[in-house]
Formats: sequence, C-alpha cells, structure tokens
Amino acid sequence: MDSHIHSEYSPDSKSKLKDIFKVAKSRNIDIIAISDHNTVDGSKEARRLTKKDDLLVIPSIEISSIEGHILGFGCEEKIDRDLPAAETIDLIHDQSALAIIPHPYCFYRHGLLCKADYKDLKIDAIETKNARFIVGYCNNKAKNLSKNENLPSLGASDAHYFKFVGDCYSKIDCEKDIDSVLKSIKKGKVEAFGKGTSNIKLSKYLFEYKVLKKFD
Ligand SMILES: [Zn+2]
Ligand SMILES: [Zn+2]
Repeated sequence: MDSHIHSEYSPDSKSKLKDIFKVAKSRNIDIIAISDHNTVDGSKEARRLTKKDDLLVIPSIEISSIEGHILGFGCEEKIDRDLPAAETIDLIHDQSALAIIPHPYCFYRHGLLCKADYKDLKIDAIETKNARFIVGYCNNKAKNLSKNENLPSLGASDAHYFKFVGDCYSKIDCEKDIDSVLKSIKKGKVEAFGKGTSNIKLSKYLFEYKVLKKFD
C-alpha cells in the first residue's frame, strides 16, 4: 500500500491519475490513496476510475492545519484548512476516518509534531518512512515515537511525481476493502518499508521538470 500520493489535483503536482495507477501496478502495489493538499477531488476521481479495477483506492486528503499537515485517511468529504490541529482531527474522526501524521518531524514541510505535542492530539498513526527525505533524521525520530508510544507506523512515497510512487510503502494485513484497511492500520497490523526517493532519481526529475519543462 502507498497511502500518500499527490496528483494534478494538488497545486504542486502534475501527475495524471492514470500514470499513478500504472506505476503502482508495475510495483505490485494494490492499495493506494491520493492524498492531495486540501482537496478530495483527485481522490474521488481516482475512486471513480478504478471502480472495476484491481487497484483499491482509499479516500484521503492532506489537510494543512494551523500547526502542520494531517492526513484524513478515509475522508470522503473535504475538511477546511487552517483550523487548529485538534479540531481538524475531530473532524476527521467525525467521518470515521483516521488521522495519520505525514513527515511528523520535518520542519520545512510543515511536520505537525514540530509545533504540536503528540500527547495533546488523538493521532491514529504516523508515517515513519516518508520517501521525501534528505538525511533521514525526521524519519528516525518518527520511528522512535512510534516505538515508544506503540503507534502504528506507515511507509509512503508522498510522491509529487508519478515515477516516485511506491518508493516507500506499507505491508498491511487486511482484506481488500476500505473498512478492513482502516481497521488494520488502527490495530497496528501494518509495517513500513522502502528506502526513499534517491537523489539521482530526484535530480533527473528536477532536470526534466525545471530545465526541459517536460511536464507543462
Ligand atoms: Zn505534507
Ligand atoms: Zn504530501
């Protein structure tokens, strides 16, 4: 499963849903979530397109709360941005979805736990392997929190470019339906894997994107 992928419905990604599906399948990933910034439009469209497909798409959104980013994993409806984190998490739970914290300690990417205290929030799971890292410090810190607090831990690509889908991922013990995926995460029947997006892959992308403007 890759639970955190961005599509062209995010302002900072140009990835087409169909390209995301293709890469996911080629890497044997059978559960994904399109977790776009502050919109469920990409996630809804992805679910519509894969209705008769082997690929299971979990509804999702990456919400910018005041203190940092939060995934509303399982959210079918949009939640407003710029609310306090605690209120955002309550609104996620109102939709019977999970509050998963992406890149929790990554300051320059609005990691929630840089500004908020874990103990004040009802967090369901955190990403301990987010593929978009430079030295790995933030992921290691997240791994320690997950261990100490017995908090379910996920791997995800956070891919803003479709070729990076699956660079980190989770193995999950569940049935292939939305309800079962959410329950298994909550119970911690999930494990994070992956090495992250390599610098070579990243610089190739930046060259194609910024210099050749291939994606316009
Ligand atoms: Zn983020
Ligand atoms: Zn993201």
